[in-house]
Amino acid sequence: MGDIRDQETAEIAFRASLTGHLVFSTLHTNSAVSSVARLLNIGLEPYLISSSVSLLVAQRLVRLICSSCKHQYVPENEILSKFKGYLRHYRNQKFFKGEGCEQCNFTGFYGRTSIFEILRIDDKIKDLIFHKASEALILKQALNNGMKTLVDSGISKVLAGLTTLEEVAKVTEISEEKEAAAGLMDHLDQIVSQSSVHPEKRSFYIEN
Ligand SMILES: [Zn+2]
Repeated sequence: MGDIRDQETAEIAFRASLTGHLVFSTLHTNSAVSSVARLLNIGLEPYLISSSVSLLVAQRLVRLICSSCKHQYVPENEILSKFKGYLRHYRNQKFFKGEGCEQCNFTGFYGRTSIFEILRIDDKIKDLIFHKASEALILKQALNNGMKTLVDSGISKVLAGLTTLEEVAKVTEISEEKEAAAGLMDHLDQIVSQSSVHPEKRSFYIEN
């Protein structure tokens, strides 16, 4: 079904799912995790959300750097500082951008790709939703379960030389405070420590 924007539509969708139908729908929120707060805000009861939702996926599109005019560069301090909480765990970061050429109509970009945040609603997350836990707590549990946020997903594409930090900043909500509260820094430490590659090359293994 289409967008869920009000309580009536939401209840139809959730009742259908409770009676055994697989329902796909969309919501306008900032992230997969914040969809839970959005559904509560629409007026759904926590028990209805915890017993019906099995997967929440947030998706954003970012432009791909044009391969004909791509070159390495050092981003502005302003944008680097926005991402510093994420980037400080990765050494020897290399950044690329497009200079602009005929191929990309002098924009520096050619084509687009998507970044994702995929939240699986397991028993622990169900329990948190049922007890109306804060978004920060749900995020913390999701990160412990290994979820990558939209920003994580964006940075992995930046460090792979596919897009720019500026593109990721445009389509994600970088809230270092919220994510620090949820233990994002521990999460990033975990990703780095799990990586078996040389420290200087870790920046390219954020996918692991
Ligand atoms: Zn180009």
